[in-house]
Amino acid sequence: MSKYIKDRTPQIVTIGEDQHDLACEKKSAAGSVSQRACVFCGSRVVLYPIADALHLVHGPIGCAAYTWDIRGAMSSGPQLHRLSFSTDLREKDVVFGGEKKLYSALTELIESYKPEAVFIYSTCIVGVIGDDVEAVARRLSNETGVDVLPVMSEGFKGTKKDGYKAACDALMKLVGTDDNYLPPKYSINILGDFNLAGELWILAEYYKRIGVEIIACLTGDGRVEQVRKCHKASLNVVQCSGSMMHVAKEMEKKYDIPFKKVSYFGIEDMSDALYEVAQHFNDPELMANARTLVSEEIAKLIPALQPYRQKLEGKKAAIYVGGAFKAISLVKALRLLGMQTVVVGSQTGNKDDYNLLQKICDKGTVIVDDSNPNELSDFVKQTGADLFIGGVKERPIAYKLGLGFCDHNHERKEALAGFVGMLNFAKEVYASVCSPVWKFIQK
Ligand code: SF4
Repeated sequence: MSKYIKDRTPQIVTIGEDQHDLACEKKSAAGSVSQRACVFCGSRVVLYPIADALHLVHGPIGCAAYTWDIRGAMSSGPQLHRLSFSTDLREKDVVFGGEKKLYSALTELIESYKPEAVFIYSTCIVGVIGDDVEAVARRLSNETGVDVLPVMSEGFKGTKKDGYKAACDALMKLVGTDDNYLPPKYSINILGDFNLAGELWILAEYYKRIGVEIIACLTGDGRVEQVRKCHKASLNVVQCSGSMMHVAKEMEKKYDIPFKKVSYFGIEDMSDALYEVAQHFNDPELMANARTLVSEEIAKLIPALQPYRQKLEGKKAAIYVGGAFKAISLVKALRLLGMQTVVVGSQTGNKDDYNLLQKICDKGTVIVDDSNPNELSDFVKQTGADLFIGGVKERPIAYKLGLGFCDHNHERKEALAGFVGMLNFAKEVYASVCSPVWKFIQK
């Protein structure tokens, strides 16, 4: 452990070797070039899938380019979210302030695009020069009648997780603004699914088959009008708890809506997600429908997975993703393919997630919070991993080390949720790990 930055050692544990509890939920250590994204990026990845809202980045052009279309979030209708608007703040604005520029940009954009709502994202420089984004938003809301919502996400003010909270705070200003809606008998909201590669549509079909209707998905394939009425649902089903737990807790407090934390990755967790929702409504018909759905899907899936399992049996995987809850599902899904997880970590995991990871992983597995490229490269080499599962920042690490890579982050274009997603996952892992190209790499 001595070769890692001293401040980082509490955030690294090897099962069976280290005795200490894993430290987490801390600011990144200076000099460690964290894999984490900034606060602004955290808020943008959460809100960006609301497809009929206008998203304006108040800051230099680089912040907007860095997060442009950052999620593979698909929309079944409007595509306004895919445009990356920025006030393009420059030296002159830093000296004289950017409020006028923000006001005139938004006046023009609202006139041209007539959005259902507007999100203004504050970036580092806005925090430094002190523009009053809230006052500009208020003025524009009054003048145009469109909800203009400031997202207080100055990049430097915390971790990516603080960006999630800033996004939730902005979202809560819209929740409950339509009180006239009459909800169906069994209704839920899905929180923390981002409709990557159309995954929400797979889940919506499952829920429909068991007899449950989705009022809103926050925020995948999202619409402002759904957010306004989602307080009428009977249950909030939270997938990405890191990003959306704050909204779930606020809605429980304000509207008395309970929530359940689920995962849609892998057979076990997908089945549990359906059973838990059926159980909540306490209707035997819903539970019977869920059981039928699960057994039908598993009967198709297991034989289809078999050829991939044969090729992948005994291979080792390293995982580094945004939230640790997703990593737990991935460890189980890899086990189903006969693979062992040897490194696992996340950008924003909490104590409960890491405790569970320590319980389910094998002896010798390295568990790490808020890692950096040097550490990850070392762990992968030490443990002899054949596959790296991560996002855009981990891809080059994997390829430079000459091992297979599977994108399981918000940039991906492959649906990996649900039963059909498990098969896609097996195909992708197989194609990457067993690619003949690795024969030509000198390790
Ligand atoms: S908000 Fe700050 S840290 Fe984030 S991309 Fe912009 S300049 Fe970089």
